[in-house]
Amino acid sequence: MSNFSGFYKLSLEQRLAILKKELSLSDDELILLKNSGSLSLESANTMIENTIGAIHLPLGLAMNFKINGTEKIIPMAIEEPSVIAGASKAAKLCLPDGFTASADPSIMIGQIQLVNVKNPKKAIETLNAKRDEILVLAKKLTESLTKYGGGVQNFKMKLIETNRGEMIIVYFYVNVADAMGANTINTFLEKISPTIAEYTQSEVRLRILSNLATKRMVRAKAVWKKEIIGEETIEKFLDAYEFALNDVYRCATHNKGIMNGIDAVVLATGNDWRAVEAGAHAYAATKEQRKGYTSLTHYEKDEYGDLVGSIELPLAIATVGGAINTLPTAKLALKILGAKSSQDLAMAIACAGLANNFAAMYALSTTGIQEGHMKLHARKNEIKG
Ligand code: NAD
Repeated sequence: MSNFSGFYKLSLEQRLAILKKELSLSDDELILLKNSGSLSLESANTMIENTIGAIHLPLGLAMNFKINGTEKIIPMAIEEPSVIAGASKAAKLCLPDGFTASADPSIMIGQIQLVNVKNPKKAIETLNAKRDEILVLAKKLTESLTKYGGGVQNFKMKLIETNRGEMIIVYFYVNVADAMGANTINTFLEKISPTIAEYTQSEVRLRILSNLATKRMVRAKAVWKKEIIGEETIEKFLDAYEFALNDVYRCATHNKGIMNGIDAVVLATGNDWRAVEAGAHAYAATKEQRKGYTSLTHYEKDEYGDLVGSIELPLAIATVGGAINTLPTAKLALKILGAKSSQDLAMAIACAGLANNFAAMYALSTTGIQEGHMKLHARKNEIKG
């Protein structure tokens, strides 16, 4: 069964019939697979290979968010209890001001790897000399983005020494507007690479976007007042923060708490959460060279003794393209959030990440994380009977 050839050529019905026979699936189990929810099985079958069904996650709403003065409801898709409650509580505790946030334009990085470069120094000089010419061609090749205010902006070269000799990496900076940009950039890189190879007298290897989208940063900030959360809590909270800054085993879990909020919004809106995860952790590992892997959030006391929390991370997310058009609930989630652009969405995601990090640290520093969790587990068991 594991090497059943041509599974992808079969219709969905044929695949299910094979599964039933080979794995002795019951009729009830087949019904489970056929129940694909709001995503039709036909659509699911066009999205990936060897489709046999769809899985479901709860979709909930985090409340009380105010971002840059506007009230927001944040949709979250997640299987873990306490995440939505935690985000809502953290958002409530920083009212009436709420969060401030900002997001960079949607500049993504695409990389072309050049190997067997005859003369690396000369190759770099030639690319610099031909910059205007290359940019004219690059802009033409990214014309599909022009009407949305996007397109290629510039490029740079980096020489790397490797075990297999010197290589040149060409970095293209592309504004992808409201798209995530992976397909768009990969297509562009494949089209422009023969010209780059010709100018540099080299061979092209990889042509692929980078998920470390450091030109597409998003930031969020909130102040939790001492009158609301208590001075003692702030002291304990800052102790917890120092723990994360100075112990990578704690820091991994600290950042996981941030990703609870981030991934849940990314998933609810049909975005590529693997790209976001890869970017977030690569950034956490490189943002402070000296420290290695560190916290994506920052906490300190301001001059009034209130707790100021902030987050900064790269976010390659979209309100158009990818799976967003195919997943019916993704579009609905964007409507509920009121995200008109990828920047709107990025800011909400960053606020959710900061809120969930605050919520986890607040609970850990005071009552402990299990109390809230256990209440929800108790509710789950009640429902199960
Ligand atoms: P896409 O090609 O579906 O959408 C981009 C296109 O949408 C643009 O080229 C443009 O023509 C159009 N568009 C319409 N309105 C727009 C607007 N307002 N702003 C910008 N463009 C607009 O998708 P994509 O964003 O190029 O790629 C995303 C997909 O690629 C995701 O599904 C992702 O999972 C997948 N992917 C990811 C990786 C990775 O490494 N992360 C690699 C390959 C593919």
